[in-house]
Amino acid sequence: TDIGSQKDRVVTEEEWLQKWEMGNIGFHKEQGHPLLRKYLDVLLNGRSGLRIFFPLCGKAVEMKWLADMGHSVVGVEVSEQALKEFFAEQSLPYCEEPVPEISGAKKLQSTSGNISLYCCSIYDLSSSIVGKFDGVWDRGALVAVNPCDRQRYASLMITLMEKNSSYLLVTVSYDPNKHKGPPFYVPESEIKSLFG
Ligand code: SAH
Repeated sequence: TDIGSQKDRVVTEEEWLQKWEMGNIGFHKEQGHPLLRKYLDVLLNGRSGLRIFFPLCGKAVEMKWLADMGHSVVGVEVSEQALKEFFAEQSLPYCEEPVPEISGAKKLQSTSGNISLYCCSIYDLSSSIVGKFDGVWDRGALVAVNPCDRQRYASLMITLMEKNSSYLLVTVSYDPNKHKGPPFYVPESEIKSLFG
């Protein structure tokens, strides 16, 4: 498939922040994503008390859902507004602290301690800061990453995964010549070459 029309497209962090300010967040799903429900067993694989990562988390309601099941959730998001809306809408008290390793970054953590959301770019994270994860819910994340950054994103995600971790990835299938994205079209062949 010809993805030429999307490969040079860039959405800046500033543009993402503006989308949040304008309430232009059609990607947000109030009711949670049906595919997480459907494939939850694949993600958990019989395990309990997992550390689950939400890259480019927005205010995904599934973070509360998994935390309520006893897992520990870590997210990363450039928009502080998104993270504050998450805690407010889920009625969760939280506290804020700086992240010493990343200048300008903040960590917003639920008072109960099981949801930690980093307000910074995902590219600022490393396993020495956030540790490694048993599971990843990647919805609106790889497909939101600028096409030129996909390799860097996938390489980073691989370094954040424990040996037996599971990774649920949601992509969208459409003709990339008809929509400029995001979400971007990521062909199956590219997913294979990115993640092996
Ligand atoms: N996964 C969420 C949000 C998807 S939209 C959901 O399912 O609802 C993509 C999100 O990524 C936006 O909220 C945007 O602000 C955030 N984002 C974009 N670039 C980012 C980056 N480099 N690091 C962290 N967050 C980023």
